[in-house]
Amino acid sequence: MSAASGRVCVVGSFNEDTTLGVVALPRPGETTLTRGTRLVSPGGKGANQAAAAAVLGARVSMVGAVGDDEPGERALAALTDLDVDVSPVARRDDLGTGIAVITVDAEGENTIVVDPGANASLTASEVEAAVAAARPDVLLLQLEVPVDAVAAAVAAAHGARVVLNPAPMPADPTPVRELLAGVDVLVPNRSELGRLVGRPEPTDPTGVAVCVAALGHHGSVVVTLGAAGALCFQGDDAPVAVPGVPTEATDASGAGDVFCGTLAQQLADGADLLEAVRRANALAAAHTVHAGARVRADLAAH
Ligand code: ADP
Repeated sequence: MSAASGRVCVVGSFNEDTTLGVVALPRPGETTLTRGTRLVSPGGKGANQAAAAAVLGARVSMVGAVGDDEPGERALAALTDLDVDVSPVARRDDLGTGIAVITVDAEGENTIVVDPGANASLTASEVEAAVAAARPDVLLLQLEVPVDAVAAAVAAAHGARVVLNPAPMPADPTPVRELLAGVDVLVPNRSELGRLVGRPEPTDPTGVAVCVAALGHHGSVVVTLGAAGALCFQGDDAPVAVPGVPTEATDASGAGDVFCGTLAQQLADGADLLEAVRRANALAAAHTVHAGARVRADLAAH
């Protein structure tokens, strides 16, 4: 990190992930056994994206809420180890830190149950004050904290570039659509894009373009396409496909978070959008070679 590094403020979630490798995914009423694999790791889309931006050298501050408990301690320590400023994170003594329980079968299919805990308690006024104080170059947002807290962040952005990863998409897209006027770069995957416009998940570039047109978003839209990379829409220009980087992917969990964290770090450092997307594709691909959603400290070497 250097004094010239861009500043990124992430407003978002902390979870502690427990990932269980199971023989078969549990069905209703069924008890299932693990294959002996259990991994407890720091997670949450917000904290994962903050970690990725920090590993790449951005000056990162994180706004969120954790419980006054051991998972909360671990979640904060995992970010302070990467020099992320967690001083704006609220500690709740009446709520637990968010948790996610993930089961993965031998084919890589998974189920995820999230208990948001303290994440759900983040308030608009806390966010407004913290974002105004951070004065970032890029404000990076997701939807694992209440949407009115996300809206307060957008309102307090004061000239920062606002990047929204609309994940997870709620059933009703209306409050998210209302945020978009203040968003400079929207980064959905195909399923989130479909839900934003009330259509089925688009399966090809034409379908993606139809959904993006239906959004009527004035800013840029970067639609991630898994191994195929991303499709970028800027103003009235024709969309630009930025191909993915082929890898021996073994675990794509957290790839979207590495993508968004890299994009924010690149934009904060002055890269143009396509350059930023190329780097985000490369690093998200490198991430899929390893197990686990949280970025590894050696990611910047790619
Ligand atoms: P999400 O993880 O949010 O569902 P995607 O599946 O679209 O989003 O993946 C996000 C990004 O991660 C992609 O745009 C791409 O850069 C990278 N990525 C995901 N899966 C792979 C893969 N199998 N090989 C290479 N890159 C991948």
